[in-house]
Amino acid sequence: MSDPCPTCGLALAVDESAVRAGLALCSSCGSVWLREQGKNADGADAIEFRPLPGRVRFERHGDGDFTITASILQPAAVYLVLFSLVCVYGAARTGVRGDWILFILSVAGAVAGVGMCLEFIAGRFRLEVRAGEGRLDEGFAGFHRTRSLPWADVTSVDQNVSRRWKMSRIVLNMKDGRRVFLGGALPEDRLRAVLRLLRYMVELQCRVC
Ligand SMILES: [Zn+2]
Repeated sequence: MSDPCPTCGLALAVDESAVRAGLALCSSCGSVWLREQGKNADGADAIEFRPLPGRVRFERHGDGDFTITASILQPAAVYLVLFSLVCVYGAARTGVRGDWILFILSVAGAVAGVGMCLEFIAGRFRLEVRAGEGRLDEGFAGFHRTRSLPWADVTSVDQNVSRRWKMSRIVLNMKDGRRVFLGGALPEDRLRAVLRLLRYMVELQCRVC
């Protein structure tokens, strides 16, 4: 027996690719859920459906074409605002004193701080795939970059955690052995949701090929 869709109440069609990726997709209303192993009131194993984290959007355009959008917005922006203000203050003080080395360092700090701040406030992750060709847009301002991605060559998706930087990224493994890293600025919960969506889309693609 399949579970009812939390949005429309109709039965969720069981799509094995989605289940393996940790998702549930409703073929009636198009809503997307994170599928988690949880417990019911009696403490028995039960499947739970959680909505995608806020600020993550998934659109399917049919035939393996899709768009994933996620906002980079995160609380670290607050610290960066403070850091930038301190740098601006430092630049003003050292500029008046004529201490040019410290002045240049403060200005550089302020520019970097404001740039990263914009990234953490207005930055976004957007991957659009059409006919096997991907277009990836990540970041904002000075940290913004757009890349094209041969989506048809992606064979699997992993999560890569850098111990040194304590930062997670998504890794796309390509047919020729190349690894493409993305999603580095995304907060953990949004990154995990994007990872599942990407896994699902890779599975669908490999089922066709
Ligand atoms: Zn539904």
